[in-house]
Amino acid sequence: MDEYKNTISLKTLENTAAALRRNNFEAAVYESGPAAAAALLSLAGTGKKIGVGGSITVSALGLPEALAAAGNTIVTHSPGMNAEARRSTWLAAQAADIYLASPQAVTLDGKLIFLDANGNRGAAVICGPRKIVLLAGINKIARNQEEGLWRARNVAAAGNNLRLKKDNPCVKTGKCEDCASPQRICNAVTLLWKKPWPNDVLVMLINEDLGY
Ligand code: SF4
Repeated sequence: MDEYKNTISLKTLENTAAALRRNNFEAAVYESGPAAAAALLSLAGTGKKIGVGGSITVSALGLPEALAAAGNTIVTHSPGMNAEARRSTWLAAQAADIYLASPQAVTLDGKLIFLDANGNRGAAVICGPRKIVLLAGINKIARNQEEGLWRARNVAAAGNNLRLKKDNPCVKTGKCEDCASPQRICNAVTLLWKKPWPNDVLVMLINEDLGY
């Protein structure tokens, strides 16, 4: 990124962070993924149970491995688990000390949008661990709620369908068709207008493209 684009992007993230704070979230801006990862490792410390929602951003930053190496226990589902094991893992993640995830969109007026197949992440960010940390690259910034929901379906979900090799219509057309497919991954929208009361929520905004 050239220096002028970098400066504008950082200002956009600072403006978004200010809007998030007005909505009672904590928010911080980082110039890079490694800087955010270092801050998160320092915040988590050691000896914690850390629930992780499926997140390419979290895995791209190597956080599960780094947190485990620092003496934390990672609670997350994995591809080989059967339905019952996944369900009990999701419930255990909701009872962890910290929950890590990434929204599909963060709006300039400080709202957070999540779109899920199962809703385990939505449940965790509404009423899960006392400390929730959400990481979002600058590619997740949307002008408003409407654009954020559009992004969640047409950019994030369509891209994830492609990544997961799902036989859903968006893979062929390149846009959300609001399908009735049995493999549809867009079933539960979680929209945080303001921070729910029970949890502390820190949003880490990162000046890099990360995740879908
Ligand atoms: S609703 Fe269906 S078509 Fe739309 S993004 Fe989700 S899986 Fe794809």
